[in-house]
Amino acid sequence: MYACPDPGCLHKTFQRSNLITHYRTHTHEKPNICPDCLFATGDPATLTLHRKSRHGYVPRLDQTQGRTVL
Ligand SMILES: [Zn+2]
Ligand SMILES: [Zn+2]
Repeated sequence: MYACPDPGCLHKTFQRSNLITHYRTHTHEKPNICPDCLFATGDPATLTLHRKSRHGYVPRLDQTQGRTVL
């Protein structure tokens, strides 16, 4: 069971992907969401830094990596 980490929200789901989809309703102003956790930011550079430091993310120049696919 995955519970929404947003304070005051009681949303829960059995599927992690559903939680991520739900969590986006809390992050309208933060369109850059980490695909590996629920970190969200309004700044793409901040997201990249987060992914590098937290998940060992290595940016690739592959065109297919230009947009986050969940
Ligand atoms: Zn929620
Ligand atoms: Zn993350």
